Amino acid sequence: MLLLPSAARAALLGLAVGDALGVPVEFRSREERHRDPVTGMRAHGTHDQPAGTWSDDASLTFCLAETLALPQGLAQGPDLADFARRCVNWLDGAYWTATGVTFDVGNATRTAIGRLRRGTAPTEAGPRTELDNGNGALMRILPLAFHQTWRAGQLDLDAAWALTAAVAGVTHGHPRSTLGCFLYLLVARGLLAGLGPAAACAQMVAAANPWLRGGSGAAAAEELHYRRVLDGTLAALPVAQIQSSGYVVHTLEAALWCLLNHPDYAATVLAAVNLGSDTDTTGAVAGGLAALAYGEAGLPKPWLGALARRADIEALANRLAAMA
Ligand SMILES: [Mg+2]
Repeated sequence: MLLLPSAARAALLGLAVGDALGVPVEFRSREERHRDPVTGMRAHGTHDQPAGTWSDDASLTFCLAETLALPQGLAQGPDLADFARRCVNWLDGAYWTATGVTFDVGNATRTAIGRLRRGTAPTEAGPRTELDNGNGALMRILPLAFHQTWRAGQLDLDAAWALTAAVAGVTHGHPRSTLGCFLYLLVARGLLAGLGPAAACAQMVAAANPWLRGGSGAAAAEELHYRRVLDGTLAALPVAQIQSSGYVVHTLEAALWCLLNHPDYAATVLAAVNLGSDTDTTGAVAGGLAALAYGEAGLPKPWLGALARRADIEALANRLAAMA
């Protein structure tokens, strides 16, 4: 079992570092990364930002962490109206941005925030067609691993699904997105309990398969899309079969593949970023898990030294852990 404040700091910092490593090369190809691999924090590039600048992935993760750090935020709710206000404030007011500039906004997230701004209920805001399955909920869901429902000694999978669907649905309302978040949080739960990556993924597979077969219509109908995650074959696939687009299934597969095939935090996140394409989000999603696996001490000091608003992130993690 990881010590909670340290695990919370690791999760938030590790996700932000992965995001920041990917920001300068977002949308660039895997071939380009073969010629010129990312090995540390860079400045400029795709979004022309200073080194250590994280993007929407970390910003919206921090918005959710703030909501969960409210009194009772980890025991009840969470307060989706509060989270919605923070999302609107991020897009309109640069709240929880690295450098005072909001950049890199996904389509479904932009649509959802537009609806929230016009008064749509948070439970109705996330677009929910099959084409709305970008990785924008997966990239920000990690703080939910610290919620009482997800940390219970005996996990109630139905309750965990309902909670995850509600929080994901503020920006992404399709069950495929929820299932990606749900499988990701199952792995995070195992890592928080002290399991290594392989054991945590095996526990996720063992828990999810019988539950999916047992019913819950919306989740079960999406199972086939995560076949390579759920049949335990993902880690052994060659890298050429691992895609790294902005599709939620690709992002979960890529993050777990990197986690399962690398021995430490740095190697895992660099592998994720060097897959190319949606580098910052793949880096963030892989980075959050790798940080839980290898702990706060596993985060390279030079990267933390370059990270924008490190002290603010640590303070938020400490407030979150204090509520747990
Ligand atoms: Mg981003």
